Amino acid sequence: MKKEKCKKEVWSGFYHHPCPRNAVKDGYCRQHHPDKVAGRERLSNDIKKIKWKNSPLSIAMRKIKELEKENDELKKQLNEIYYP
Ligand SMILES: [Zn+2]
Repeated sequence: MKKEKCKKEVWSGFYHHPCPRNAVKDGYCRQHHPDKVAGRERLSNDIKKIKWKNSPLSIAMRKIKELEKENDELKKQLNEIYYP
């Protein structure tokens, strides 16, 4: 019996070709099984989220929000002093 190949098409950078790996489950290889792909996507999304959270831009944006809140609070306090 001929071994079943993974049914995923992969992009080589120039053209699409069928995945050369043997299918292990539901007609997909270990790399391309939808469960595995979803898991990898989830993981890469989590990594992106963490990277974004720790990026200087994101930190600066959070800081700006905090300062805006503080600014509003101080304005409110000033108003209470001047217009009690
Ligand atoms: Zn594959």
